[in-house]
Amino acid sequence: MQESMNIKRNILLNPGPATTTDTVKMAQIVPDICPREKEFASMMKEMREDLVRIVHGDLGKYTSVLFCGSGTINIDICLNSLLPEGKKVLVINNGAYSTRAAEICEYYGLPFIDLKFPVDEQPDLEIIEQTLQQNPDIALVHTTHNETGTGILNPVREIGALVHRYGAVFTVDTTSTYAMRPIDIEKDNIDFCMASAQKGLMAMTGLSFVVGNTEMIRKSADYPKRSYYCNLYLQYHFFETTGEMHFTPPVQTIYAARQALDEYFAEGETAKWQRHLSVFEAIHAGLERLGFQDIIKRELQAGLVVSVRYPDDANWDFEKVHDYCYERGYTIYPGKVSEQSTFRLCALGAITAEDIKEFFVVLEEALNAYNIKIPVYYVK
Ligand SMILES: *Cc1c(COP(=O)(O)O)cnc(C)c1O
Repeated sequence: MQESMNIKRNILLNPGPATTTDTVKMAQIVPDICPREKEFASMMKEMREDLVRIVHGDLGKYTSVLFCGSGTINIDICLNSLLPEGKKVLVINNGAYSTRAAEICEYYGLPFIDLKFPVDEQPDLEIIEQTLQQNPDIALVHTTHNETGTGILNPVREIGALVHRYGAVFTVDTTSTYAMRPIDIEKDNIDFCMASAQKGLMAMTGLSFVVGNTEMIRKSADYPKRSYYCNLYLQYHFFETTGEMHFTPPVQTIYAARQALDEYFAEGETAKWQRHLSVFEAIHAGLERLGFQDIIKRELQAGLVVSVRYPDDANWDFEKVHDYCYERGYTIYPGKVSEQSTFRLCALGAITAEDIKEFFVVLEEALNAYNIKIPVYYVK
């Protein structure tokens, strides 16, 4: 069946969805099934446990809850579901994805502090501690592990230790690290992490999940219900009592995620992370050879996303370079830094350093085709 498929292999260097294997693509082709059947429920039960295993969570203490939606649904769910009445959220914000969390608080009318830090720096732990000290009503702290807009890694273990010292719950958006950069939910002081099947798992879009502390979910049963569809406790409770998702699950996407989990465990956490790192190194090597500059200090990068400055060459045109690469099977992606023009190259997906070498041959051809000088030129 695999041989007969012959689907073109595209190399996605965007920050998700990621390049998938053919076996994951094929896993979506299954006999029609009603997801209320026991067979489907038992597959989801096993999947929920495997999702906890990926972050080394003790199944006696941690659980996972599946949702139908893109990754942002997890941020929405954690923030609106885990805040007791009369308490406040603290968003530790040094990038676009934490800004998204602050906007979610705003839209729900949740009391929150948007604690902003420069996008190219890690958050300052002293300022975080002062804020926790001065606001004893903070019950929920949220931040992003790898700010996918820039590629900066945030020190979640250190932040989490502070959060716990002040008795708050710590939710971390790990969408762009989960199943790639190793996470140990308990050692990393994370109460809730989250991801979407199309990122580190290298599966399909439409399935997202929150992995976190079961006791805290149970405790949230009495918190205000601020959303009908996106409530963590309600979905958890439905899974625990019926084995099913409350509303229709993305059936074929779940079959693909099942296959992707098998491939994850077969590749192994360490080997997979080494592969992503070798892709990341190859991206840096290629960029350096062509003279490109990145915006985040190398030692602060999470190892998955490189944010590249636009060259100052008058002939530089991101759209044209993008289209040239796209037509040849390589997708590059615009940046997400408001003050600077950048594009991104990411190390997600079922790709290797060899693919990156081939990509840079194409990128160099694109620069030549549009008379962009190599090495690329910057004013300063
Ligand atoms: C991809 C991503 C998300 C989810 O984005 P969607 O467009 O909703 O899939 C959330 N947080 C981070 C850090 C991400 O990288």
